[in-house]
Amino acid sequence: MPLNQIKYFQKGFNFSQDGPGNRLVYHLYGCNFRCPWCANPECFAPDTATTTVTVDEMLAEILRSRPMFFSGGGVTFTGGEPTLQFEALLELLHKLKEENVHTAIECNASHPRLRELLPYVDHLMMDLKHTIPNAHQRIMGAELQTVTDNIRLAASTRQLALRIPLVNGYNTDKDCIEGFCKFLAELPQNPALTVELIPYHEYGKIKWQQHGMEYTVQNGFLSPARLAEIRTAFLEAGIPTIQT
Ligand code: SF4
Repeated sequence: MPLNQIKYFQKGFNFSQDGPGNRLVYHLYGCNFRCPWCANPECFAPDTATTTVTVDEMLAEILRSRPMFFSGGGVTFTGGEPTLQFEALLELLHKLKEENVHTAIECNASHPRLRELLPYVDHLMMDLKHTIPNAHQRIMGAELQTVTDNIRLAASTRQLALRIPLVNGYNTDKDCIEGFCKFLAELPQNPALTVELIPYHEYGKIKWQQHGMEYTVQNGFLSPARLAEIRTAFLEAGIPTIQT
């Protein structure tokens, strides 16, 4: 695909779910992870219907949507993994900041050049799914080191909304929770860093089936008691968490 084109599989407005205010949210196609609980598996399903536009076409659409960006809103790029379309996203973010549009991205923190995007991102959301390297590789199909490097980088310099999905059987046993707490406790003190725990849900399960893919998570739900224990463990490690 040419470097100035962007491929997405969904777009729409929502309020305060993917960044502040009312936002135009683009779900970009493609992901380098394969999280078994993914809520948007159409981002990597080969039969997904997609739309491809140039950077300038998307920019024009965003600028036309400006009257809708109320309550501090703007545009959000999520996915899939939006940073996979790196050159186009960089160009678009740069142009959006020239136009003074509030920008947000939601990403898996894995892109080795993520640092280059950050000056053009007002609201950064990143996921951390595991802190044990071989488990991250086995479950997500991707290495962990760049993820943790990028999270450390962002946490040391700027606002960051960090999200941790909690999936029973994958990342919620004692070692996993201790790993999260240790990693987070060692991040630089930053009042603009928030940590959100996202208990397992099955919103995406039916989409796996609709795209002919096997959904392999079983018993992913956490009991309320285990969830409370995990929140307490984070708190005792000095890491308050938010609940939405
Ligand atoms: S990183 Fe996000 S979009 Fe990619 S597979 Fe995992 S949950 Fe899905």
